[in-house]
Formats: sequence, C-alpha cells, structure tokens
Amino acid sequence: MRCPFCGNVDTQVKDSRPAEDNVAIRRRRFCPACGGRFTTYERVQLRDLVVVKTSGRREDFDRAKLERSIRIAMQKRPIDPERIDQMISGIVRRLESLGDTDIPSKVIGEIVMETLARIDTVAYVRFASVYKNFQAADDFDKFVSELRPGTVEE
Ligand SMILES: [Zn+2]
Repeated sequence: MRCPFCGNVDTQVKDSRPAEDNVAIRRRRFCPACGGRFTTYERVQLRDLVVVKTSGRREDFDRAKLERSIRIAMQKRPIDPERIDQMISGIVRRLESLGDTDIPSKVIGEIVMETLARIDTVAYVRFASVYKNFQAADDFDKFVSELRPGTVEE
C-alpha cells in the first residue's frame, strides 16, 4: 500500500484488528520513509457497482468519495466515528443488494439522505442542501421548515 504522504510503496502493517462488527479489518500502517501513519480498511466487496449520473455518464462506484461527502456533512457533529463507518457500510450493503449493479446517482443520494435523517438532522440538512442544490433561499427555508421533529420518515 502506497504511503499517502510521500508516495513510498513500501509501507508496513503495525496492527490489524476486526472492525465494524467483523465486516472489516482495520490496519494501522507505518511508512518507514517519512514516518507517516495511516489506516486502511479491508472489506468484502460483493459486487462491482457502477454509478449512472443524470447526464448518463457512468463511473465506478467509489466508497471513499461517498465517505468524504458524508464526513463533510457530519463535521463537528457529536457522532462516534465508528458509528459513521458502520453507517457507510450499511449504505454500501444496501446499494449492493438493490439487485442491479448500475445505480443512478439519484438513488444513492436518496439512500444517504434517508440514513442521515435517522442519525443526525443537522448532517442531513447539510447533505441535502448540497445534494439538492437549493438555489433559492425560500426553497431552502421551506425544506428546513418541513424538517421538524417527527416529520422525517423512518
Ligand atoms: Zn511516507
């Protein structure tokens, strides 16, 4: 595994342990070239998923990209990082079990929003505001006003 800091390809595994209720293996890695430390996760990938954009463009599903967008939405929220990992794994499993390897980006966005709505309303609003690209301020206000407790469906 290449070091993300200096690009050295010869990094060492310092520690491996099960994570996310045994669906992943978490490895702590060390780069002898620059002293950098980083973590990798090994997971079962049941199917190779393809994201189909609104424009019709297709690209390989990228878990890291999904994770980035969710972590941005979750920034400074009082949610355990392990819980966020579990949530992302849950989303990926749902995508894998949709029955089709081609998944419209819209479906992914909806599943993410559904999941965030259950876990953290603030993160949900952040994600949704970007995802839905609310241009007009009154649209966004309307959206938030619809988010009163109890109105978010399970
Ligand atoms: Zn390095």
